[in-house]
Amino acid sequence: MNDTILPMEYDVEAIRADFPILSEAVHGKPLTYLDNGASAQKPRAVIDAMSGAYEHCYANVHRGAYHFSEQTTAAYEDAREIVRAFLNAKSEREVIFAKNATEAINLVAYSLGRGMLKSGDAVIVSEMEHHSNIVPWQLLRDMIGIELRVAPVTDEGELQMDVLATLLEDGKAKLVAITHVSNVLGTITPAKRIVEMAHSAGAKILFDGSQAVMHMTVDVQALDCDFYVFTGHKIYGPTGIGVLYGKEAILDAMPPFLGGGDMISSVTFEKSTWADLPAKFEAGTPPIVEAIGLGAAVKYLAGIGVDKVAAHERDLLTYAMQRLAAVDNLRVIGTAPNKTAVISFVMGEAHPHDVATIIDQQGVCVRAGHHCAEPLMHRMNVVGTARASIGMYNTRAEIDRLAEALDKVNSIFG
Ligand SMILES: *Cc1c(COP(=O)(O)O)cnc(C)c1O
Repeated sequence: MNDTILPMEYDVEAIRADFPILSEAVHGKPLTYLDNGASAQKPRAVIDAMSGAYEHCYANVHRGAYHFSEQTTAAYEDAREIVRAFLNAKSEREVIFAKNATEAINLVAYSLGRGMLKSGDAVIVSEMEHHSNIVPWQLLRDMIGIELRVAPVTDEGELQMDVLATLLEDGKAKLVAITHVSNVLGTITPAKRIVEMAHSAGAKILFDGSQAVMHMTVDVQALDCDFYVFTGHKIYGPTGIGVLYGKEAILDAMPPFLGGGDMISSVTFEKSTWADLPAKFEAGTPPIVEAIGLGAAVKYLAGIGVDKVAAHERDLLTYAMQRLAAVDNLRVIGTAPNKTAVISFVMGEAHPHDVATIIDQQGVCVRAGHHCAEPLMHRMNVVGTARASIGMYNTRAEIDRLAEALDKVNSIFG
């Protein structure tokens, strides 16, 4: 929104000071954490919110009539309201807490899939999906006989929109399930256009926002998407918590996913009836303290401003692309013009795992491998990549350390 914010207005050192782990050393070197796409570090606000809950006010939620249970329930529901506001969802009933993004997508595959799709219907994914947005649809295909269609990407890593249009043409596609930002390439998909195309073809649309919500403002009402999922641990929150946003009318019409306590209105051996949203999709004791931690993370990020974070990260991406262009033998995979600060690369003869291991000796953490996106690796003709993924607390000095460490890789592999 605010492209005029200059990076210098962004106090990265103050932000770094909020993340206790960033002052740790690795192999005697300062920690250079560039694996935020796999999981982000946690600010003190999250750590304190979670330990504070355990230390001062903890009980199960939605049950006890006593003070601690009421207070814990209020904290859990406050977290839901924070997430609702963050996504600009219309109602808290549209915000379901799940274990992670993977579980949220499986929820939709099982519930919408078994309840509302039938044999012969198609689901469209893209070639750059995380396995979490491929395998649930394959399971559904094997269960009820849907057809799985794949929208390809270009060599640069952009979605081929013309082919997507073709895949929608016969009206068989009932759902488009596509990433908002690629975890490997950083590509930002043209979400608004995809929604319009899907809806005019009669298909619903789910976005996997696991790599998006920490890098850009997401407004589910402006997008008009039917489902949006993300995972807590990549947005500076804890593990064990994820979010499914769904339009209320659709969630209402969907049958439950998991059955058990908390999701019912009444139970007899003959028949059970379901609780209202969001409880219908939150069977069993939820990840209470994790939700509280996620609420603290979202509040922290929103307090700094996602747009400011995005401007800072864009600056680092530009800097990193210049810096890495000077590293011999390095080729970047994923060069879409509209992308987040995720940089996948390969280096000559060096295996990505060797690259990661060598630069770890300099305290630099990057991910290496197929990044849970094997079909995309095949598409790009690589066995894997090394991936540096930038977060709100990274600095130009850390990009320098990455580049210097990669020069060492060259000195070893010649
Ligand atoms: C990490 C990731 C997921 C899965 O997140 P989990 O927390 O493992 O469930 C799904 N999609 C994308 C794009 C991701 O980056």
